Amino acid sequence: MEHHYPSRLLEKAVGEFAKLPGVGRKTALRLVLHLLRQDVESVNAFAGSISKMRNEVKHCSKCHNISDTDICPICADMRRDSTVICVVENIQDVMAVENTQQFDGLYHVLGGVISPMDGIGPGDIEIESLVNRVSEGNIKEVILALSSTMEGDTTNFYIYRKLSSFNIELSVIARGISVGDELEYTDEVTLGRSISNRTPFDKK
Ligand code: ZN
Repeated sequence: MEHHYPSRLLEKAVGEFAKLPGVGRKTALRLVLHLLRQDVESVNAFAGSISKMRNEVKHCSKCHNISDTDICPICADMRRDSTVICVVENIQDVMAVENTQQFDGLYHVLGGVISPMDGIGPGDIEIESLVNRVSEGNIKEVILALSSTMEGDTTNFYIYRKLSSFNIELSVIARGISVGDELEYTDEVTLGRSISNRTPFDKK
């Protein structure tokens, strides 16, 4: 359906909002009209916070979690157990595991999983930096907390092969629950239990 906007600027803003996932043009128009009713200062603050976030957020140089600082607050927290690394696919997974309050080690965010169908190979995700962290020593256990999909399994096995020569425990979180894509939606009690009940990685 063709919309007739009374303003090109309005139309442009609607177009920008409509690029967001799950936002259609109708919702975009509603949001833009809402902003138009706010005072200029608060809309500037809104736009500024998005721009500042995009410009200034970085990735932790150790675990690749998002962070405002070179080393993220989790890696910098001396009370955490730096001998245990939980390997996750993405940042939402870090947040999900943190919400369980069942894990006090550190993370390693891969930024994806190996997926030949999508052209994503081991070199496209943060596996080498994981191997480097382990090779520096001081790591006792690596917990694999990836999705129980074919891509998750492939990635688990690849990491297993890369780490098998190191004297560490390699474990996998308890299966039988949806993880990975759905890790963030899994209820915290279940996810917390699956981390507590992790089992040694089985090469199959
Ligand atoms: Zn970090």
